[in-house]
Amino acid sequence: MTYKILVTGGAGYIGSHTTLALLEAGYEVVVLDNLCNSSPESLLRVARICGKAPLFIQGDIRDHALLDELFISQRISAVLHFAGLKSVGESVRKPLDYYDNNVAGSVTLCQAMAHAGVFNLVFSSSATVYGEPTQMPIREDFPTGVPTNPYGRSKLMVEDLLQDLAKSDPRWSIALLRYFNPVGAHQSGLIGEDPNGLPNNLLPYVSQVAIGKLKQLSVFGADYPTLDGTGVRDYIHVQDLADGHLSALRTILQKTGVNIWNLGTGIGYSVLEMIRAFEQASGRAVPYKLVERRPGDIAECWADPTKAANELDWKAKRGLPEMMADTWRWQAANPQGYGR
Ligand code: NAD
Ligand code: UDP
Repeated sequence: MTYKILVTGGAGYIGSHTTLALLEAGYEVVVLDNLCNSSPESLLRVARICGKAPLFIQGDIRDHALLDELFISQRISAVLHFAGLKSVGESVRKPLDYYDNNVAGSVTLCQAMAHAGVFNLVFSSSATVYGEPTQMPIREDFPTGVPTNPYGRSKLMVEDLLQDLAKSDPRWSIALLRYFNPVGAHQSGLIGEDPNGLPNNLLPYVSQVAIGKLKQLSVFGADYPTLDGTGVRDYIHVQDLADGHLSALRTILQKTGVNIWNLGTGIGYSVLEMIRAFEQASGRAVPYKLVERRPGDIAECWADPTKAANELDWKAKRGLPEMMADTWRWQAANPQGYGR
């Protein structure tokens, strides 16, 4: 039987890579995206890579009528829910937009799913829900923390509401995937991350410095209690992340309840290690200066990926050189991203 999967936010960075992986694995895919942070070009490129296209519906997850119509016209087996806003800084300036898109949007989506009798959901959560853990690596049974910004709080609120939902009705089968730091691009160089304006995240910033669009990187904090004083994170290749979604999907289709899985590599790298690895892969210099810590940042954060390995039969396979080479291939071939 061919499953048809609804991918919300499927034109975005992680959604487009996962849409590609789903199509390559033989799933039928419907993408719902309002294109507020993406371009339809990403899906044309997906079709170019794999020779198959998802059905694309331009629309908003907060649109009740559209969702009801979508679930009536398409026989959806499960939803991969990526749609949402993701900029920490913007969430501080525009909290209502974040609660509306991320929280109210998820409520509307779940209402439409329940109405249509679709109970399988994979939700894009984040390691940010752990707050500032005192111990590394981070396991799924660690308590969730106090996120320091509306974006983080919106992710935790959705996790909580999905837990309540599953308690209220045993038909729900929900995966909460807590991503660590997604980086990289498809090895073809055709799809990748295309941030709008000045990048917030480390690797898009580094690659725009390398290509000469930005002058130098500011390294936020060199006085953390880490190996070289700079922040340590668990960077995971977006292709590994996409594969993790397919494993989670296969698993939740066989069970019910809420399952939480970390998607990370289990290895932490510092900002300076990332700069060096990128310089090596690209052959370009990345000028940087050490500046003050960024408010709200934690010193270090990396996953214990054992639970996902045991329960999903999934492991991140790609190492730092591949993450860097693929990021650079995408950036060099698409200096203006998708040209939005
Ligand atoms: P992205 O911005 O590239 O993709 C999100 C997509 O959702 C975009 O295409 C956007 O147009 C769409 N969208 C936003 N609001 C919508 C709405 N109301 N209706 C329909 N479509 C809407 O971001 P991404 O990096 O691919 O992230 C995907 C998900 O993963 C997000 O929920 C994000 O919070 C989560 N996440 C991302 C990271 C990261 O570092 N990239 C880390 C942890 C969690
Ligand atoms: N960082 C940095 N300069 C930048 C962007 C990020 O030094 O321009 C650092 C940041 O302080 C953190 C790491 O790079 O230690 C990863 O940051 P990112 O924003 O990519 O992800 P986060 O883990 O904060 O969500």
